Amino acid sequence: MTGQRLSGKVAIITGAGSGIGFETAVLFAKEGAKVVCADINEKGIQNTVARIAELAGKEASAIAVRTDVSKEEEVKALVEKAVEEFGRLDIMFNNAGIMHPEDDNALTTAEKVWDLTMNINVKGVWFGCKHAINAMRQNGGGSIINTASFVALMGAATPQLAYTASKGAVLAMTRELAMVHARENIRFNSLCPGPIRTPLLMDFLNTEEKKQRRLVHVPQGRFGEAIEQAYGALFLASDESSFVTGTDFRVDGGLSNAYVTPE
Ligand code: NAD
Repeated sequence: MTGQRLSGKVAIITGAGSGIGFETAVLFAKEGAKVVCADINEKGIQNTVARIAELAGKEASAIAVRTDVSKEEEVKALVEKAVEEFGRLDIMFNNAGIMHPEDDNALTTAEKVWDLTMNINVKGVWFGCKHAINAMRQNGGGSIINTASFVALMGAATPQLAYTASKGAVLAMTRELAMVHARENIRFNSLCPGPIRTPLLMDFLNTEEKKQRRLVHVPQGRFGEAIEQAYGALFLASDESSFVTGTDFRVDGGLSNAYVTPE
């Protein structure tokens, strides 16, 4: 283990089979959390749990629970499993999300693509919050982190309308939940990643031209790494952020504050 910033805490991470969720699951385990890895991709979370055993040392505890976050009964069962296995829930990282390859502009995006995106990216986050609140009330509080995106903060002329709208909804929902539950010591923050080198984005930007179209706007001139999001999530999950709630926490290489970027 590298540290003890989450010692004694129990965390659920959705989308833990890949990208940001994978890196966060490993990091949280290294920091002493007991980690429940959830994903629709069973093989992905089995791999994450195996990697935690390798990377986080033999005291690390992690389990895999296959979950489709858009199905409320599965999310309820996920939270119940976490509490049954580890006795409590302190951290809920609602991170699972999709960016559909056919998500496009207002005229071309199919209604089924819109609905699927909303069901996973918005309803999935709601269900995660709802069931985590119930569990966290049993232990006097907790930290809930919902993954939004920089596209919820700024407009892009390369449209992915359903995705952008879904992430805007995550920001608004998270802010309101933060207010409603503030006196219960349940903190809610959105994590707003910039463009990150994970399968989700790299599958979407499948040519060099598409990548360059974006990179020119990133002050740091590169895509972010999943581990850089994991460190942001670690701060929001730990007691170090005890006075931080309702924020749109940006880990975006300066992108959302940029006008002209360095050549
Ligand atoms: P990823 O594709 O590597 O991982 C996403 C994971 O979510 C996958 O393992 C996938 O199986 C899982 N998932 C998809 N649908 C699910 C469902 N219905 N139930 C449970 N799990 C499901 O992507 P990532 O880049 O690590 O994305 C993680 C989050 O970060 C997403 O919410 C994404 O929108 C957000 N994000 C990513 C970027 C980026 O540039 N990569 C930027 C901003 C925000």
